[in-house]
Amino acid sequence: MTALNIMVIGAGQMGGGIAQVMAAAGHRVHLHDLDAAALRRGLTAIAARLAKAVSQGKLSNEAVEAQLANLTPTGDLAPASQCDLVVEAVVEDMAVKGDLFQRLDRICPPQAILASNTSSLPITEIAGHTDRPEQVVGMHFMNPVPVMALVEIIRGLATSNQTYAAVRELALSLGKTPVEVRDVPGFVSNRVLQMLINEAAYCVYEGVASVEDIDTVLRLGMNHPMGPLTLADFIGLDTVLSIMEILQRGYGDSKYRPCPLLRQYVQAGWLGRKSGRGFYRYDQAV
Ligand code: NAD
Repeated sequence: MTALNIMVIGAGQMGGGIAQVMAAAGHRVHLHDLDAAALRRGLTAIAARLAKAVSQGKLSNEAVEAQLANLTPTGDLAPASQCDLVVEAVVEDMAVKGDLFQRLDRICPPQAILASNTSSLPITEIAGHTDRPEQVVGMHFMNPVPVMALVEIIRGLATSNQTYAAVRELALSLGKTPVEVRDVPGFVSNRVLQMLINEAAYCVYEGVASVEDIDTVLRLGMNHPMGPLTLADFIGLDTVLSIMEILQRGYGDSKYRPCPLLRQYVQAGWLGRKSGRGFYRYDQAV
């Protein structure tokens, strides 16, 4: 596909990775964050990942230079007026995203597509903050973006076929595998994954097996690369709980009730790796 002018908003974990894969595919990327330090950190992380690829013989110095030349950091939204597409990857907060999409709708050219990397908020509601809901779509990348092959493309109620096709082609140009998903709570990825994690938490809660053994069942019995409780500690138990609550509210079905143990761990501040303790302990030598 021809190179696009793209703005990625939010230079955090996800935005930095999204900007990197887009620049690598030859698109011209403006990476925006309103926090100058976050923007610097995002760029440093990209440079470090590229340097590692060079040291592993996976990339040449020339390729790295070409990719970095496609990346322009910016502290303001103005370059969005020149963009074909914007991918938003800011904090998971409807008020923040809604305000941003409202502003983007005013700044961007009329034909521009506005995509969100949200993992749980309704695309239809985000689109409602614009006067171009047919050009608003979800592009749900997986973490870490440069490594994970999947992109869920979420169609809001009004997303047009043209918008869907354009975003699908973009995902393919990045070497990713897109799947089409309707705008339902959790999409497919979090609806299925968080249920698995929640059920594993229930097994701990009910004393069915030890934490280690539950993970072993999924690793060795189902060939999962990582057990669900190890994965939950990676994701953060607060994030897991908040997604379960979104599923429970969104579907109104008791099958999505969060495991009480999960809630208790979060109340205790046992959030997983980031707090030193979750289903496993990380705060002491083993
Ligand atoms: P993060 O906290 O690492 O990064 C968010 C960045 O957005 C920060 O640098 C912050 O300064 C910036 N920001 C906040 N408000 C802004 C605004 N109004 N304008 C410009 N920049 C702003 O978050 P993350 O983990 O990269 O998640 C970003 C989005 O991606 C969220 O919607 C999240 O749900 C989604 N997501 C996350 C993951 C994951 O595993 N972390 C996976 C898939 C999707």
